[in-house]
Amino acid sequence: MRTLVWFRGKDLRLHDHAPLLEASRGRDAEVIPLFVVDPYFFAPERAKELPSRMQYLVATLAELAEGIEALGSRLVLVGGKSVDVVPEVARAMRASRVVAHRWSEPFGRERDRRVAERLGPILFELFEGETLAAPGQVMTQGGKPFSVFSPFARALAKTVVPEEPLARPRALPPLPALPRDVRALEVPLPTLASTGVTENPGLLPGGEKAARKRLSAFLRGAAARYDVGRNELGVAGTSRLSQDLKFGTLTARTVWHAAKDALAKHPKAWAAFSNELVWRDFAYHVLYHQPEVLRHPFRRAWEGFEWRNDAEGWNAWVTGKTGYPVVDASARQLLAEGFVHNRARMISASFLCKHLMIDFRLGEAHYLKFLTDGDWASNDLGWQWSAGCGVDAQPWFRVFNPVTQGQKFDPDGAYVRRWVPELARVPAKWIHDPWNAPSAELARAGVELGRTYPAPIVDHALARGRFLATAEEIVSRSR
Ligand code: FAD
Repeated sequence: MRTLVWFRGKDLRLHDHAPLLEASRGRDAEVIPLFVVDPYFFAPERAKELPSRMQYLVATLAELAEGIEALGSRLVLVGGKSVDVVPEVARAMRASRVVAHRWSEPFGRERDRRVAERLGPILFELFEGETLAAPGQVMTQGGKPFSVFSPFARALAKTVVPEEPLARPRALPPLPALPRDVRALEVPLPTLASTGVTENPGLLPGGEKAARKRLSAFLRGAAARYDVGRNELGVAGTSRLSQDLKFGTLTARTVWHAAKDALAKHPKAWAAFSNELVWRDFAYHVLYHQPEVLRHPFRRAWEGFEWRNDAEGWNAWVTGKTGYPVVDASARQLLAEGFVHNRARMISASFLCKHLMIDFRLGEAHYLKFLTDGDWASNDLGWQWSAGCGVDAQPWFRVFNPVTQGQKFDPDGAYVRRWVPELARVPAKWIHDPWNAPSAELARAGVELGRTYPAPIVDHALARGRFLATAEEIVSRSR
């Protein structure tokens, strides 16, 4: 059987790839590995809108192409829109079927619906692999989607045993000859140069090999005390696998099984880590069942919230100059590393939405632009959670205090010192609220507030009161 294996931006791997394995099974198997280079993402004017993800993606694609070649085939890269070129290639190659992984995002599902329609009699099979549980597998007893995490997690634990990951194929059949029509569609591998993205040396390397190495290093190191380390801002206490899970260089079930084995003697760490993987599943569950969350607050009453139009506040937040050290550290980490520690994401997102009262959707888009792990489901869940308008959000009236959060989760100020070097010499006692430090201490640390480092752009108590008054109105209207 001749099968077109359509690799997409969320399954760029050779291990645990059900469509590839299925296509290469049997003596008469013929496989056409395909990736579509859609100018919507890869044209320089678009690629620069997602520089971190693009850097990861081009490195990962190059490694995938090499890996497929080492197995005896070739990754065919064609330019165009998937809905046009996938059916075109499948027909020109006389493929019996097209196989791929299912996506949860509404635009991915719509794309697949259109591809299926255009493929006509050619089979289009979608495989699971994105999440631990397939959409629809974990539902309330009444058959409804969950909108609170804990019962979702309990139901998942009861009903789902994540499948063991599949092996990597040992070899692939040689690529069948490409007809002229298909050769005409071929394009070279995208590179940083072709996409116009400037290399950022601060990003983690892309590709399946680097992802698997990161997983092993985490399991040999920080994983055993993950339950504690995950909240320590100044420590490398988390897995740093989010971009690998996002691009599918690792599957959630691969991580799940490897961590379960490695943490057999560390039940608290396993409980905390597996819980985070289930949060990821929950985010996908929400997006699958309520795709409108990408455009609207999950709690519809919040549609009427009067977000402030505050260009100055926005610029300060984006560039890391709000005067709140932990918020500023997170903004600078994002731009430098395409990553932000989870605790810092929560503090920083809360600050934008609650202290500055700037629309969470602006913050969400900024994160999506610069995060290497920028992921529609998890990012939206995180932002709406932080703003107080999401599914299972933190209570709307809980306004993180960036000073006490910093003191608790970065007690020696290591995180702030790393990302806000102008405060590096401030004693730990004052590092999260330098404006309260005696002026002699600041002078000794070389800090002049308002000159070397900004004074806070808003007063915490005033900002908190302003937000609560506005939110109270929204919430009372919806009661
Ligand atoms: P670890 O702590 O090692 O966790 C392991 C894995 O579990 C992660 O790689 C991730 O896949 C998953 N995970 C952990 N926490 C969460 C969570 N709260 N929600 C969903 N999945 C989780 N995560 C993204 O992958 N992409 C995003 O775009 C994204 N945007 C966020 C925006 C905001 C405002 C907030 C508060 C959180 C966001 N998160 C996002 C969730 C979380 O911050 C990151 O997944 C985590 O920091 C990644 O680091 P890690 O791989 O070291 O995670």
